[in-house]
Amino acid sequence: MTQSRPIAPGVPLPTLQPRPAPLRGDLTGCPWHDVKEKLREVGLRPTRQRMALGWILFAKGDRHVTAEMLFEEATHAKVPVSLATVYNTLHQFTEVGLLRQVAVDGSKAYFDTNNTEHHHFFIEDQNDLMDIPASDVVVGKPPIPPEGYEIARIDVVVRLRRKQG
Ligand SMILES: [Zn+2]
Repeated sequence: MTQSRPIAPGVPLPTLQPRPAPLRGDLTGCPWHDVKEKLREVGLRPTRQRMALGWILFAKGDRHVTAEMLFEEATHAKVPVSLATVYNTLHQFTEVGLLRQVAVDGSKAYFDTNNTEHHHFFIEDQNDLMDIPASDVVVGKPPIPPEGYEIARIDVVVRLRRKQG
């Protein structure tokens, strides 16, 4: 059942944790320093690997990366990390709110360096994500979550394909 759904409001598994305060105000313009500061603020120890991966991730502004993409960039930048470490780091960053995971389909997890509220276009034949401002999407009546859960957030993925003809 992997039929594409035109609109897939993926309500992620509720991992209820306090949302970190917006971090964007305190940036100094020095990426290395900013990464250290970001990690400190969310309580992650700034290890070499986290620093290096964070620097590669966040120095280029808002973007969407997969673990494979980041691994490739790290390899290029001669940062000695394994793909497993890249995965772990991306998940750690996501858990503390530095990244947002975008669920496009089962096979690929995209991580978004823009951790503010927004939605996505997914261009199917290019495997590419584009941001949609939160204000451009009106989410209708949200479903009632199961007993004991609350909705952490609603992600809308609007899947695009080229017009035929
Ligand atoms: Zn995004």
